[in-house]
Amino acid sequence: MARAEFARVSLRERQSIEPYLKQKPVPLGRIAQALGLQVLVSSLPAGVSGKIEKTGDNFTIRLNRNESRERQRFTLAHEIAHFLLHKDILQRTGEIEDTVLYRSGQPQRIEFEANRLAADLIMPDEGIESDLRRLQTRFTEEAFDAVASEWQVSKAALEIKLGPVYS
Ligand SMILES: [Zn+2]
Repeated sequence: MARAEFARVSLRERQSIEPYLKQKPVPLGRIAQALGLQVLVSSLPAGVSGKIEKTGDNFTIRLNRNESRERQRFTLAHEIAHFLLHKDILQRTGEIEDTVLYRSGQPQRIEFEANRLAADLIMPDEGIESDLRRLQTRFTEEAFDAVASEWQVSKAALEIKLGPVYS
């Protein structure tokens, strides 16, 4: 994990999620479980992708049931990232609720951090590297679609991860 955000996650939490980052696709539900988070697919207002809220001593993540599976996966990773990085805010405010643009009323920096860690959780460097190299060497639409589907990520997310080689 190359990114700065991952290094900020506590050692104990990193150790409990690292085994799951070696799997393809990454079992985000298991990661949430390992962290003691409850995950519910809920009827949220249109325009809200998800939220994480304090429920007693623990936290509950809600995902908007009307969004696509890939989208729900990214939102789940984003909310897990808020838990890992922004517990202080969650303790203070009780919840972070994200719009479809992953805005929450928190400073934009907070949302960028959550998005970067979310991308690393759904597409861990060590796992996806060989797939990216293959696409960079010989790009075809079919191969690109296959990789997105194997990792259960949106094509937009994979395109960002693949970087400017894709053109
Ligand atoms: Zn957020």
